[in-house]
Amino acid sequence: MDSVLDILGLLRYTWQREKERKMTVIYCDVCKKEISEARKDINYVTYLDKDLCLTCEEKLRVSLKQHAAARRPMLFKDYQDSLGKILSKMCAHR
Ligand SMILES: [Zn+2]
Repeated sequence: MDSVLDILGLLRYTWQREKERKMTVIYCDVCKKEISEARKDINYVTYLDKDLCLTCEEKLRVSLKQHAAARRPMLFKDYQDSLGKILSKMCAHR
């Protein structure tokens, strides 16, 4: 009896996940492009409260690196601050 219930629970969970997966459309906060079938850390990433496509994440990474090179040494908090600034600049761009 228990195992049947388990299977039903699992099925429901799987369908729910499937439904969510199909319905999930996310817009990149930087380039505003649609990311269809969005899956976190697979085809989009989240920094602070922003969703980024992988192309924009790469740009963010490059900017942060340049930023860090310009002002050494960078502490963890500096990275945090810089990331926030760069992100809001990137998102305000368009
Ligand atoms: Zn993007």
